[in-house]
Amino acid sequence: MREAGIRMKLNPLKDVLKDKRILIVDDSIVRGTTSRKLVKALRDAGAAEVHMRISSPPVTHPCFYGIDTDNQDQLIAATKSVAEIQEQLGVDSLAYLSWEGMLLATQEDTNTFCSACFTGNYPIAIPERVKRSKLILEKTPASTPA
Ligand code: SF4
Repeated sequence: MREAGIRMKLNPLKDVLKDKRILIVDDSIVRGTTSRKLVKALRDAGAAEVHMRISSPPVTHPCFYGIDTDNQDQLIAATKSVAEIQEQLGVDSLAYLSWEGMLLATQEDTNTFCSACFTGNYPIAIPERVKRSKLILEKTPASTPA
């Protein structure tokens, strides 16, 4: 369903994209699966180059405060360098906004923000029980019926 939704939402126009150098700006990369499909769709539509810029730092830690992020082992930036992510997504170049740059852009007191998913520094300690229970009811490939 999720993949069908992505295909319906992303409908590249060959007339517009053919032989063009494309720059994608996105707010974040979490698992990287959607980005990889998007890049492939752009290349299939004839884009000459596909570059990506992300307006946040790499997401390296899960959120326990309410945002629906994956477990850490599913987060592409938790285990891969920017160069490795670039290769995995199939883009010609990839760059993220720095953590400092992101906080500076708010023009607010940087101590007032949580940014744990970028740093692992959780402002409120996460009990082990809560860490273990995240995604406990999600299907895993092993538990998915054939
Ligand atoms: S900044 Fe904090 S609250 Fe927001 S998604 Fe990341 S970990 Fe969750």
